[in-house]
Amino acid sequence: MMTIDNYKFAGKKAIVRVDFNVPLDENGNITDDTRIRGALPTLKHILDEGGALIIMSHMGKPKGKVAAKYSLGQIKDAVAKALGVAEVKFAPDCAKAQAEAAALKAGEVLLLENLRFYPEEEGKPVGIEKEDPAYEAAKKEMKARQKDFAKVLASYADCYVMDAFGTAHRKHASTAVIADYFDADNKMLGYLMEKEVKAVDNVLSDIKRPFIAIMGGSKVSSKIGIIENLLGKVDKLILCGGMTYTFAKAHGGEIGESIVEMDKLDVALGVEELAKKNGVELVMAPDAIIADDFSNNANTKVAPSNAIPAGWQGLDAGPEAQKKFAAAIKGCKTILWNGPAGVFEFDNFCAGSRAIGEAIAEATDNGAFSLIGGGDSVACVNKFGLADRVSYISTGGGALLEAIEGKVLPGVAAIKG
Ligand code: AMP
Repeated sequence: MMTIDNYKFAGKKAIVRVDFNVPLDENGNITDDTRIRGALPTLKHILDEGGALIIMSHMGKPKGKVAAKYSLGQIKDAVAKALGVAEVKFAPDCAKAQAEAAALKAGEVLLLENLRFYPEEEGKPVGIEKEDPAYEAAKKEMKARQKDFAKVLASYADCYVMDAFGTAHRKHASTAVIADYFDADNKMLGYLMEKEVKAVDNVLSDIKRPFIAIMGGSKVSSKIGIIENLLGKVDKLILCGGMTYTFAKAHGGEIGESIVEMDKLDVALGVEELAKKNGVELVMAPDAIIADDFSNNANTKVAPSNAIPAGWQGLDAGPEAQKKFAAAIKGCKTILWNGPAGVFEFDNFCAGSRAIGEAIAEATDNGAFSLIGGGDSVACVNKFGLADRVSYISTGGGALLEAIEGKVLPGVAAIKG
């Protein structure tokens, strides 16, 4: 397999799939540049070796349509600054960048507009439901269009580098299909991909126990696969964040206006059953910081997670929960964290996530290996100034979790064959 260290980039154009899906504030400023920094070793290496760079990425979920708020043009100058180059050229239509790509010289950088402005990138038919009898035909047609789209992207460059770990679990045009248009000597993984894949291998090949996973975020549904899988691997599992209330509701608790998935009550009970069967200690929040509005300025008080009055909603783990989480993490030797314990974006509801972050940092100081994945958990670690006190910060959320599940990521398979 070709590697980025062995490839001769001099005089070549490299098209690199990165994950520049960075969070922006309402003025288009980047609020966390972890993902850009993650791609720099690969991008700088190619420039240093005398290559020309064509960078491609997605941002947000524009669902196959052009949307100004997801334009990568907004981050062009930040990318130039991070790369230490005077200019990053911008191609406003990623599928019609032939002229810009052809004109690119060694040492120059071209950033393509958001790939997901085209439905072909994800390859899912638009405007038709799965239940529709015409869906299969539409899917087939879109898959053919996806190949054509990938072929156009491939035509811009001499070689392809896959370095978008955050989307490596998706078989998209730019993350996997494009690799079919390069022979084995002209496609490779970037440094970030190599590093991320190795970090997961390190964890899975030699798990030091106790192994604890902390899963938070808003919903059970989006994480049920990994939760069930982790129940076969970990010694303890903290479930926190919005999913707390689906579990509380499943036991007949009062949860006021808290976020809940009423169609997942059985799923929650099933998770508890499986944990019991596997001898996994399931740790959940006994109390919550509740608010009378979904706002940082809401009135707050503490209540049991299963006795939240009408008109109030749980937005963070309560003081007892924070203590319980910290105690569960203490002494663990392998720690995986994905998803916040509350609405950490509001300063008044980030205490639960902070307690988790601090307990992880302390355990890491005492020799644990801690792996933090997913944009929100990484943002938490950065917000609390703990980035230097954890072992490994992954740029992947879903990709990290699928890799931990032991699945071969399509973005890796496309290169390795
Ligand atoms: P996810 O995308 O499922 O990983 O969820 C991440 C989001 O969950 C973050 O934006 C948090 O603000 C949100 N979140 C965490 N706890 C709660 C809660 N108790 N109520 C509503 N949203 C929450």
